[in-house]
Amino acid sequence: MSEKPINPNRRRSGKISFLRRKNQNLVDQLNVHTENTVLNEETKTYVSKFVKNVRDCASLSLYEQTATDIKHISSHTCDHKLCFICNYLRQKKIRRKYSLWFDNNPHFLTILKEKGSTYVEKVITIWQHENKYSEYEIVSRVKFEVMHLLLTVRHTEDGFKGEKFYQKEFRRLFNLMRKKEEWLSWVYGGEFGFEITKKENGYHIHVHSMIFVKKGYRNRNKIYRMIFELWNKATVDETNDKKEFTEKELTAIKKNCGNIPNWEAPEDFVKRLKPNGATRIRLEGLYIRDDDGKKIYVTEYTGQNVMKSLLEIISYHFEPYAFDKENDEFDVPLMVELLPYMFNLRIYDRFGILHSESPLAMKNNSLLSDLEEALESKEELEGGLEKAKENSNFSIINPVYVYHPKHDDYRITINEKGLNLRIDLSASNTKDAVEEMSRMAVMMHQEPTPKASNPMPGNTNFHNHDISSQERAYFEEQINDMIGE
Ligand SMILES: [Zn+2]
Repeated sequence: MSEKPINPNRRRSGKISFLRRKNQNLVDQLNVHTENTVLNEETKTYVSKFVKNVRDCASLSLYEQTATDIKHISSHTCDHKLCFICNYLRQKKIRRKYSLWFDNNPHFLTILKEKGSTYVEKVITIWQHENKYSEYEIVSRVKFEVMHLLLTVRHTEDGFKGEKFYQKEFRRLFNLMRKKEEWLSWVYGGEFGFEITKKENGYHIHVHSMIFVKKGYRNRNKIYRMIFELWNKATVDETNDKKEFTEKELTAIKKNCGNIPNWEAPEDFVKRLKPNGATRIRLEGLYIRDDDGKKIYVTEYTGQNVMKSLLEIISYHFEPYAFDKENDEFDVPLMVELLPYMFNLRIYDRFGILHSESPLAMKNNSLLSDLEEALESKEELEGGLEKAKENSNFSIINPVYVYHPKHDDYRITINEKGLNLRIDLSASNTKDAVEEMSRMAVMMHQEPTPKASNPMPGNTNFHNHDISSQERAYFEEQINDMIGE
């Protein structure tokens, strides 16, 4: 039954081509929308910037032609929050990082740290001990449990607390809650991402969060009640005149809180809650499913199945907004509405014990270090990036012209147009070829009059390459041909 696994390089290349076409499709739909809709100047600017981003994203892609095969090396991307290619690459990257992290961190550590004239216990990660607190003696190992938290606020068509787009206020309240003593006594830290959809009752903004909590018997119910009460009170909306819970709401809350021996009964617990505060809150331990589809909760974070469901929580954060996955449809009007808000919006973050955990950082990677990290096959790694290769040619090709026929084992196949428009590089090894592509990308993003400003955040290490005006004109023309206006 089992099919032959697809060569990972071809699979990645196939995905990039597929998403590059999807981006193209989105660009076409956005252009139609802007032609037929009255938009204010500000929105127009954001839309045209976005269109340029997703149209250019990965249009510069580096392929290596060897004597026997073609390989996809890397792509220059736009880093926009709504881009399909960039979100796919972010998902891959975050999975890689967390999967390695869980292998290296089966538990946390406690150290004793001076505070004034006394010592207090501090829980840190293994990496933090090695890199920041190596002079401290380890007092104990701390077991943790991972849970998936979902937070919402009570909102109407008019939004929340008088704001239609209330992500900033949501974020502020979530930050405040994480400073509360009750929270800190149960939760070591975690990571979260915002999701934004729109329904009949306005923007629905919510948070998915992976939290690391104290391990213990039936802790889920206790932590759930703690978070429920904190979040319900924190999110009271005075502009919402809801005075009482409905019977349906009460039943749901009581059921979700569960019974805890020697704790307050659910009937009494709900009496303390505010009807105009949030009540849609979910907390669940990590589970896998057995052969009959039944949930099995797990507290050890090893093994392929466990890792798969762990990484699913995290990859939630990098699902493109305003896209209906089930029907494979873009919500273009929503996308246009969101664009002005998305600018400068922090939608993903780590907190508590994970806050300064550098091995989990997503930013500040150049194309090269990304590439080194992402190399999937052992041969690729052992081949080395700087080794000159015999009979290897590097070309920049737009992935829209690249196909992966199933009958040919998904081999990378470039159509005639792609071959005609490709830009051959003079580089003789992978490292030089990636740098050459990055220089082109820098040029592509520069204004006609060179400014000192950083044209491509995160890729500053290619700035000192001088490009002659002739070279620039030559490349510019070729790039424009390849991407197509
Ligand atoms: Zn992109």
